[in-house]
Amino acid sequence: MTGKVFSPLEMIERLVSFDTTSAKSNLELIAFVEDYLDSHGIRHHRFANSEGNKSNLLCSVGPDVKGGIVLSGHSDVVPVTDQAWDSDPFTAVAKDGLLYGRGTADMKSFLAIALAMVPTFKESKLTKPIHIALSYDEEVGCLGVGSMIEGLKDVIPTPSIVLVGEPTSMQVVNAHKGVFGFHTTIDGQAAHSSLPHLGASANLAAGRLVNLIADLAEEKRQSASADCPFEPPYTTFNVGQINGGTALNIVPRHCEFVWEFRLLPGDDAQAIIARYEAAVAEEVLPYLRATFPAAQITTRSICTVPPLEPEENGAAEALACHLTGANATNVVAYGTEGGMFQAAGLSTVVCGPGSIEQAHKPNEFIALSQVEACETFMRKLAAWLSHPST
Ligand SMILES: [Zn+2]
Repeated sequence: MTGKVFSPLEMIERLVSFDTTSAKSNLELIAFVEDYLDSHGIRHHRFANSEGNKSNLLCSVGPDVKGGIVLSGHSDVVPVTDQAWDSDPFTAVAKDGLLYGRGTADMKSFLAIALAMVPTFKESKLTKPIHIALSYDEEVGCLGVGSMIEGLKDVIPTPSIVLVGEPTSMQVVNAHKGVFGFHTTIDGQAAHSSLPHLGASANLAAGRLVNLIADLAEEKRQSASADCPFEPPYTTFNVGQINGGTALNIVPRHCEFVWEFRLLPGDDAQAIIARYEAAVAEEVLPYLRATFPAAQITTRSICTVPPLEPEENGAAEALACHLTGANATNVVAYGTEGGMFQAAGLSTVVCGPGSIEQAHKPNEFIALSQVEACETFMRKLAAWLSHPST
């Protein structure tokens, strides 16, 4: 065989060595993966961003037919700034059964193990293809993967199942909350603070909207259902940052804030957005315009990560349970790209090695036993795709 060969651990080490913090380019990692895939004659396709400094990558092993399995993960990682690491975050170091490094848990190991298995996938007599999907900008609101999901149908025959390898300790996760983030900008009118009736306070308007968000949060908390498996068992809200005004004695002209809600599967995002928009139009904007008719409030979406909904008789869930031997499913609190694949009509679950407990922290690690469990999972997948009836 002429293709390059990496053990799962070697491949994890390689992927960790690329500093793919979301703010930076991931193209060196992508080029490395393409070079590896080329050495095995594996077809692949980039979905680049408009700036040309980041890209998704989709590759396919096996026959060029529909009904394949997508193994999906993000190539970017969260920053290491202001974190005290005991070792270089971009050098994977094994110690006492644990492998340390940024992205070892979240979530380069899953991608690395899948990639390391490419020669095995290639040798297996796959009846359906295995697609490996690498995205960018997941950690800043699942901003990158959209173009790949949209373009999927132009590049590969329709797959049947998506397995998103976020760290679940190889448990099968069939539901997670969605994330809807917004940026609201308020433009009122400045005035001397001794003459507030001549101004229109952007900060007071913001306060009214923040109060509305607090009211919505309380409504959701009180309507929580006892048998909901999520923690907490309701849609939650956060106002993450507020910037407004310039000085004690100036009625503030400008204020902006960012806010989000984390939507329970089955809950209605549009209804929440409609309540907010109604409050802006019917209450807060009239309040500003009473003294300053040109006042403006604009709200733009920063990120939309749909929730992952449990599927009735879902193909992805059945396969992941078969491969892991799990007889129960779990839910997680964090959002993933899974909701977006599912919203595109693909059966999806989340199942990957490592624990979310270690994600985003200094001294992030994955247990080597998790790497082995994921490798076994991949081998079983290849066997199952060679004999789908067993
Ligand atoms: Zn992740």
